[in-house]
Amino acid sequence: MGGIGVSPCDLDREFAPQIAQLVATPPLQSAEEYYDELIWSKKLDGIRVSYSSKHGKGVCANRDFAEDDLVLKDQMLVGAQDSLNKIDCVVCSYCFRFIGSIEFQIGRRLYLQSLGGSVDGTTERHCHGSDAGSSTGCSGASSGNSNAVPQEVMMSLMDGNMSLPLTDQFCLPSVVACPGGCEGELYCSQSCADSDWDSYHSLLCAGSKTEPLRKSALQKFVGHANGTNDIFLVAAKAITFTLLRYRKLKRQHGSHESSSSLLMEAWKPLSMGFKKRWWECVALPEDVDSSEEELFRQQIRDLAFTSLQLLKDAIFDPECAPLFSLDIYGHIIGMFELNNLDLVVASPVEDYFIHIDDLPESEKEEAEKVTGPFLDALGEDYSVPCEGTAFFPLQSCMNHSCCPNAKAFKRDEDKDGHAVIIALRPISKDKEITISYIDEDLPYEERQAQLADYGFTCTCLKCQEERPV
Ligand SMILES: [Zn+2]
Ligand SMILES: [Zn+2]
Ligand SMILES: [Zn+2]
Repeated sequence: MGGIGVSPCDLDREFAPQIAQLVATPPLQSAEEYYDELIWSKKLDGIRVSYSSKHGKGVCANRDFAEDDLVLKDQMLVGAQDSLNKIDCVVCSYCFRFIGSIEFQIGRRLYLQSLGGSVDGTTERHCHGSDAGSSTGCSGASSGNSNAVPQEVMMSLMDGNMSLPLTDQFCLPSVVACPGGCEGELYCSQSCADSDWDSYHSLLCAGSKTEPLRKSALQKFVGHANGTNDIFLVAAKAITFTLLRYRKLKRQHGSHESSSSLLMEAWKPLSMGFKKRWWECVALPEDVDSSEEELFRQQIRDLAFTSLQLLKDAIFDPECAPLFSLDIYGHIIGMFELNNLDLVVASPVEDYFIHIDDLPESEKEEAEKVTGPFLDALGEDYSVPCEGTAFFPLQSCMNHSCCPNAKAFKRDEDKDGHAVIIALRPISKDKEITISYIDEDLPYEERQAQLADYGFTCTCLKCQEERPV
């Protein structure tokens, strides 16, 4: 555990050999099989995952791509919308599509804004993770807005009794409730509700159908995460994803396999993404003096330990005990921190207001009589997209270049949480596909400083040319 003292977690000691196995870099053959199977099952035949001794994993083109071609749509393994973003955007908790209607999105947002608080009823809007290396800032919903819309108008927008002009061109899927009866998760379809339930949510639902003790334990866990760092919510999903996969494998294989080999198998998709423990990799905030570094890292670890204990109280399974060790928890969080993969889905509310603004003058004037007050009340944040954290299995294999040949870019038709990679210039078959992890227009020194947080020194062509001699 380096310089920050002995782990407070008993499971770290008790299951040290199993944990070492879980966090070890998967053998090459096992990794190759995993990615071949993934690419085959998703019919992504344009790419393949390749291995080199110098850069480790990478992604290569399996055919020629022209500029602007779609290279890859990558479905997340685990992801979640930021808690504060839930005020601004109502999306499907499984595929992250916007749901309900334009009216519902606007009405609910204005209503929550008028309460001046967040979805869980707390009054303060806190920036998550600002002291722990996360890049997510606050999008401000300002309370006490002078352009207030009357409450009954907000309600009739939300319940569908009031419609705005031309929203029929911006239809959204209708809202499907969580099968466990919680209010926190909504879906675009029954199939998303079922998939989410089977993959993660059946263990995390704090709805009316959940046994009261577990429900209150889950609420404590979520409350702690909302008050400290959202990343714990995504980490919990990664753990339930593995637990549920384990149970499914056990049903399929019965007692023919040992529980530790079933756990390894259940864990495989996540094992491909590990880097380092969170408290070791997190960048030191600027206001923390380097002499305080050890203390800072210890505090981060203790925070994770508190979160983990709350999660354990809710969903611990002795058959998968190593999964609940602090070491594993730290690696899971580190994976989300270090892979730099943001979940972003553009807002149809933004598209709607842009559409109104682009109407011919007379029509525009007519429509704005109705829509104007809502736009004023929403303020500058009317266009806030859905934002969150996710782990994308293939995008995370793509290496960095400061002169990349591809980039993550959502096109108009990409309305869900998939990562979309587009070619920036022609890429010929067998060439490596690279993306930039940072703003590649920064000066050389700043680029290298930011990339140091990812644990490497960039030697791309641009860096070779710009490196001071
Ligand atoms: Zn969905
Ligand atoms: Zn639920
Ligand atoms: Zn570079």
